[in-house]
Amino acid sequence: MSLFAPDLYYRDVFAIELDALADRGVEFLLVDLDNTLLPRDTNVVTDRHREWALAVAARGFGVCLVSNNWHDRVNRVADELGFQLVSKAVKPLPFAFLRALSLLDAKRRQTAVVGDQVFTDVLGGNTLGMLTVLVQPISGADLPHTLLLRRLEQRILAGRAPLP
Ligand SMILES: [Mg+2]
Repeated sequence: MSLFAPDLYYRDVFAIELDALADRGVEFLLVDLDNTLLPRDTNVVTDRHREWALAVAARGFGVCLVSNNWHDRVNRVADELGFQLVSKAVKPLPFAFLRALSLLDAKRRQTAVVGDQVFTDVLGGNTLGMLTVLVQPISGADLPHTLLLRRLEQRILAGRAPLP
């Protein structure tokens, strides 16, 4: 399989079927922040996010946010949701993912990477042999280089639609 192809593709994080991940042996989630959990320009954690964090924890998953972002908001969001955090990640490079695995005491084969970008989240996760879960970006607003990459992403996804 291509290193750019996600194993699963969902509309958003809330649509991810936690049981389906557990059936594949997943016990840990490395979750992107910007445009995956929250739009880039907000740090407003909603009740829906808190409920999702509780559901994920209740299902027994360990979670670490892995974000290329470095602003203080990343810490606040991780704190509020009770997730571990690795920021300044420089995804798709492997170092931050490896650090997150170590924080969670997780093995790669037990771990899924969740994110909205093919060239950071999916490529990084696939390179390390983890399950990869792509979600549609929350907002069309993003960094200029990311918007350029989105056009390439569309070609790679080749009309693939998220699971309903
Ligand atoms: Mg993102």
